[in-house]
Amino acid sequence: SETGDIKIKTPDGKPRWIRLRPKFIENQKDQNRIRPIEMSVMESVISFVRSPSSTEGTDGLQVHRNLMQKLGMQIEVLDVTKDTEEKAKLTILATRDGLTGLYNRRFMDEVLEKEFERSQHALLYSNQGQTHLPLSLIIFDIDHFKSYNDHYGHPAGDAVLQAVSQELLKHVRKGDYACRLGGEELVLILPEMESEKAYERAEEIRKIISELIITHDGTDLPQVTVSGGVTTHRKAITSAKQLLKAADNALYNAKEGGRNKIVVAWSEEDSKKKPDKEK
Ligand code: GH3
Ligand code: MG
Ligand code: MG
Repeated sequence: SETGDIKIKTPDGKPRWIRLRPKFIENQKDQNRIRPIEMSVMESVISFVRSPSSTEGTDGLQVHRNLMQKLGMQIEVLDVTKDTEEKAKLTILATRDGLTGLYNRRFMDEVLEKEFERSQHALLYSNQGQTHLPLSLIIFDIDHFKSYNDHYGHPAGDAVLQAVSQELLKHVRKGDYACRLGGEELVLILPEMESEKAYERAEEIRKIISELIITHDGTDLPQVTVSGGVTTHRKAITSAKQLLKAADNALYNAKEGGRNKIVVAWSEEDSKKKPDKEK
């Protein structure tokens, strides 16, 4: 897979990390066709960072970034000039969950606080001509996962968790965060995404997972489903914790409603009004 962190050294001997991640691609079928081009673009990006000419500067990198974006990839160059190699490695270890490669809970909490503050600001000043969209959040939880583990074994369960996480990573935009909240609960933090879009994204992922064939030890595993709760920051929500709680509540309703389902959270006030879907 193209996902991963690549460490390179610049000519001055300073280490840098490049993070490559597949971005959300509208048409899954086109992915195979563009793969060879992706590879060559990646190589040229890497060689650019390895030996940046002084005149090309950041503009040169921007050209590559745009190309990558067209191909549905994203790139992040992490300058670790001031860090030691070890420190850089530790940073990545400290933010990622070992099994799934998703952001871990600790990092998720940090990001959520930061993004909530940003969204809060946008929400409060949105009547002054700003066009920022609010922060959305999705919690996914694998259905009947305990009995799945009991029937097919913990290693098979791990393979499922990894495969489901990979699907999440494939469906995030640049700037989104795919995290492991804990156990078999996974979270997407979606800055500046309106409620309807977040619901569409959740529904799309739910469907893909329900059709996913996961292989483990050379055999196809029985298929799994996920339920999901979606919430979007609005004025009634005043903390990151409340946002997470609202999504969790919606998830609970999805489970109650029969699983393999996505439910959108509304505030009590909203649900009494039974609003039309946001446009
Ligand atoms: P529900 O549909 O209501 O979500 O039912 P559930 O069985 O999925 O929910 P429950 O919370 O009772 O069980 C969660 C299970 O997830 C329990 C545990 O065995 C499993 N699990 C949590 N973390 C891991 C992991 O890292 N690997 C594996 N294989 N299983 C895990
Ligand atoms: Mg659970
Ligand atoms: Mg579960």
